[in-house]
Amino acid sequence: MSLIVQKYGGTSVSTPQRIKKVARHILETQRTPHSVVAVVSAMSGATNSLIQLAREITGYPTGREMDALLATGEQVATALTAMAINAIGGNAVPLTGWQAGIVTDSIHTRARIYDILPHNQIHEYLQRDTIVIIAGFQGQTPSGQITTLGRGGSDLTAIAISSALKADNCEIYTDVDGVFTCDPRIVSEAQKIGVISYDELLEMASSGSKVMQSRSVEFAKKFNVPFEVRSSLNNNRGTIVKEETAGMEDVVVRGISIEKNQAKVTICQVPDCPGSASHIFHTLAATNIVVDIIIQNVSVAGTTDISFTMNKEDLEKIGPALESAASSIGAGKIVKHDGIAKLSVVGIGMRSHSGVAAKLFESLSQGSINIQMISTSEIKIAVIIDEELAAKAACLVHSAFNLEKN
Ligand code: ASP
Ligand code: MG
Repeated sequence: MSLIVQKYGGTSVSTPQRIKKVARHILETQRTPHSVVAVVSAMSGATNSLIQLAREITGYPTGREMDALLATGEQVATALTAMAINAIGGNAVPLTGWQAGIVTDSIHTRARIYDILPHNQIHEYLQRDTIVIIAGFQGQTPSGQITTLGRGGSDLTAIAISSALKADNCEIYTDVDGVFTCDPRIVSEAQKIGVISYDELLEMASSGSKVMQSRSVEFAKKFNVPFEVRSSLNNNRGTIVKEETAGMEDVVVRGISIEKNQAKVTICQVPDCPGSASHIFHTLAATNIVVDIIIQNVSVAGTTDISFTMNKEDLEKIGPALESAASSIGAGKIVKHDGIAKLSVVGIGMRSHSGVAAKLFESLSQGSINIQMISTSEIKIAVIIDEELAAKAACLVHSAFNLEKN
């Protein structure tokens, strides 16, 4: 019998009614017939509430304490889901991450899975036609400490379990119909994408379209675990995410993503000599700030300007450290600017089609939208623009690439 792994996100199990709906869906899937393993997230809001509770106790909980706390959210949802299935005549068991054999490293609150023990209890239950409900987002270290896999980590549990069990299908149920050509709240003509490659989804996720935890898509790519992102609120087919195939290159742009709440910093007159950039970015790294686009201008009279972008919230954090780094290398003033957004067009077809950048820039110019920065990768072109114009830009670019006819 074929094996299906399903993952239900927090909104799918947010109320007893929704848990009952999920239970019916799991049972229907089993009766198709299939063996079913379901991975469940904490009820929506539960993880945030637990984090808030911890904050009210102390500003400095240890990672081990946080993981012991956060792992409870998924256990609640898992137990309730199993109960709901059994209450309507099914046969299900709840398993914690460790009962399912998930072994991780010991980096608390963002552990990596490095093994799923073969002598876990899953196989035995499946052989007895029992539905296995596994708590997402959690595992244990080889020495038995509870760990969690980073926010959104139930996706990773589902992909890793699918890979370990060599499941025939992996379905990720969420509160949206799939991956769209752009955020439908911004571009009303946005269309659901039928098929997308791992790399495209990763680029879209890193550019703001967070349907899935990025680490789980990286894992899926590494171990080639195709999956479908679909809604638990209806029966529509979702978006298939899989390895790239030849035909996929025919579509030049698969989607557009918009990331708001960005900020830009320019350090003027940086001495154009080895070590300047190293000093600046080491300072930023030490404050744990994730920098996105970095641009260095041509040098004029021995100095150059360096600009970079990051999340707006990080702007305050870098202040004093950056001032002292800049002055220690003899750079000039620092100009900070928020109210910017990043618009990215993504598609593996870009590798074999020319004119993508030209079309993107033309559509922005038609809307009198100024481009402040440009960055490219093999399958993405990103521009930094005024945040207030982001929605207008997204609509123009979406129609320039005919994405409404997806
Ligand atoms: N409950 C965890 C979170 O909110 C994991 C997940 O939902 O995937 O991040
Ligand atoms: Mg989630």
